[in-house]
Amino acid sequence: MRMVLLGAPGVGKGTQATFLCKRHGWKHLATGDMLREGIAEGTLLGLKAKEAMSRGDLVEDDVILELIEKTLDGIKGAGYVLDGFPRTLAQARGLDEMLEKRAENLDRVVLLTADTEVVVERMVLRGRVDDTPETVRHRLEVYENSTRPLIGFYEPKGILRRVDGVGKIEEIHERIESALA
Ligand code: ADP
Repeated sequence: MRMVLLGAPGVGKGTQATFLCKRHGWKHLATGDMLREGIAEGTLLGLKAKEAMSRGDLVEDDVILELIEKTLDGIKGAGYVLDGFPRTLAQARGLDEMLEKRAENLDRVVLLTADTEVVVERMVLRGRVDDTPETVRHRLEVYENSTRPLIGFYEPKGILRRVDGVGKIEEIHERIESALA
């Protein structure tokens, strides 16, 4: 299974990706986690990401695409869940090109949905460094402007499934499993 978890910041993509990967032995590929790791370790990637992340802006597409390409090279053949990538149309097109080169394709894109109040509350509770009220508001705008258009990109390919992201973690997990079947 090669799949994308799509949805607003705070909708629970990371939690659900962790569950899916544990159950099926897939790789959890979370660009946000990779970038935070780079920042913590002071790598070049971290340096490139730090400012944009602290503002709640997106890191440059080229930086992200290079990161994903390297990651895919390292996990040859394994199933995976992309969490937080792609986030722009340029990233989605870049991913398509990479997959085409590998003669692979995406099996599913699962869109996790929840009302804005729910995701804002979750982010406030989570309390990460980029979860301040202003940054949260800005990241939601960025989601609306740059990431939501991916729905229109994946829908015509017939691989998009919408899953209600409100409820108990286990319930949502089962909904996603059904959407993958
Ligand atoms: P959330 O899903 O709550 O937004 P993430 O960990 O996925 O959290 O992302 C945190 C931040 O990392 C984003 O606001 C952005 O600055 C950066 N980031 C993560 N993934 C990408 C990506 N694919 N493209 C650009 N920036 C990204």
